[in-house]
Parts: sequence; structure tokens; C-alpha cells
Amino acid sequence: MNIILLGPPGAGKGTQSSNLVEHHGMRQLSTGDMLRAAVKAQTPVGIQAKEVMDRGELVSDEIVSALIDAELLAMGDDVGAIFDGYPRTEAQAVALDDILSGHNRKLHHVIELSVNEEALVDRVTGRFTCANCGEGYHDRHKLPSTTGVCDKCGSTEFKRRPDDTEETVRTRMQEYRAKTAPILPYYEKRGIVQRVDGMASIDDVTTAIEKVLASS
Ligand code: AMP
Repeated sequence: MNIILLGPPGAGKGTQSSNLVEHHGMRQLSTGDMLRAAVKAQTPVGIQAKEVMDRGELVSDEIVSALIDAELLAMGDDVGAIFDGYPRTEAQAVALDDILSGHNRKLHHVIELSVNEEALVDRVTGRFTCANCGEGYHDRHKLPSTTGVCDKCGSTEFKRRPDDTEETVRTRMQEYRAKTAPILPYYEKRGIVQRVDGMASIDDVTTAIEKVLASS
């Protein structure tokens, strides 16, 4: 099964993708993660993308679609894909259709996580993760039980995304509203869009997504 998780920054796409990877053996294809890896490795794509990402704007359609195509090529045909943070523009949605048909895949669901934007600013600006195991924390809602020590693995190293500042989050949301939300009708015409309340608890969102997957 191939699905798209759609929603603004902080809607919970990454969290829900991890659950699907763990319980359904699917593969998370996050263009944000791919680009951050490219920035870290200082590849030509990473060097080109860094400033755009730091401003919270969108990297070019060609770059992200090429990343997705390459990942699908490297994946087993029997592994389902979760598109997380892609597509983000209509041109990317059109490119994804081409890419999927080139890999003999079809799109089963587009799951939109609907959310309250102000709550998201609070969510995103306080989040940080363990640099070792990736466990997620939050300055105001979920601090480690011992200050400075990861509950899960005991590491004392934590990291924050450089684009999780309030100013950048607001730009990212503006980009979502202007360029990403308008692609919903493209999929609605095919009857594959399902809306899930992204403000519910993580477990409730997971249950709602499981229901969507079970419906096909
Ligand atoms: P994310 O981790 O999905 O929040 O993405 C972080 C940043 O990477 C975004 O703010 C964009 O600058 C860039 N990015 C990620 N995915 C895409 C995409 N599909 N199209 C354009 N830019 C992207």
C-alpha cells in the first residue's frame, strides 16, 4: 500500500509514519529527512537546499521528486511507501503520479491531518529529540524525567531542528497554506482523501489512521 500523509509542520506526520513503519513494515519517505541528510553530508543538493530550508521556503520540485524516485528505485516492490512531506506542490503531485506509474505502484490513500495552526506553533517551537535514539521531547509538554538525560537510551545529547523557530514555522505554514493545501482537490477528485483529527492524542490519531488503512 502507498499512502500520503498530508499536513502542516508539526501535524504529526513523522510520529505517525514511525508507527506505520513499526507495525506495518512500510517505509517512510520523508523528503525533509532526505534533504537534512544531504545538508549534513554537504552534497551539491544539500548545499543548494540549506538556505531555502533555513528560511522555511520550498526546495525545487525537481530536486525533491528526484529524491523520491531514487528512494523508490532502491526499495523492494513489496514494501509499502508512506510519503511524508511530499508532495508539497501541484507540480510534485503530478510528478508523483508519473513516478508511481514508472514503479508500477498506485496511490491508495491521502490522509490529511487537520490541525489548529496556533497549537502547532507551540508544538514545533518546543520540540527536540535525543541525538542518539531520536526519542522526541518538548520544552513545555514532555521533558526527560531526569534533566538532560534521555529516558529511553540514557544519552545526554539532544538536538533541535534549525528551522523550528517561530519565524520559520510561520513561513512554513504559509507555504503549506499557499502551495500544499491546494493540492487536496487533485486527490479529492479520485475519492482517496481521508481527514483525520490531528489534534487528538497520538494514540487516537494512530487508531484513526489504522481505520483508514483497514478500509481498503
Ligand atoms: P519537513 O521536514 O518536511 O518539515 O521539511 C523541512 C524543509 O525541507 C521544508 O521546510 C522545505 O524547505 C524542505 N522540503 C521538505 N520536503 C519538501 C518538498 N516536498 N518540497 C519542497 N521542499 C521540501
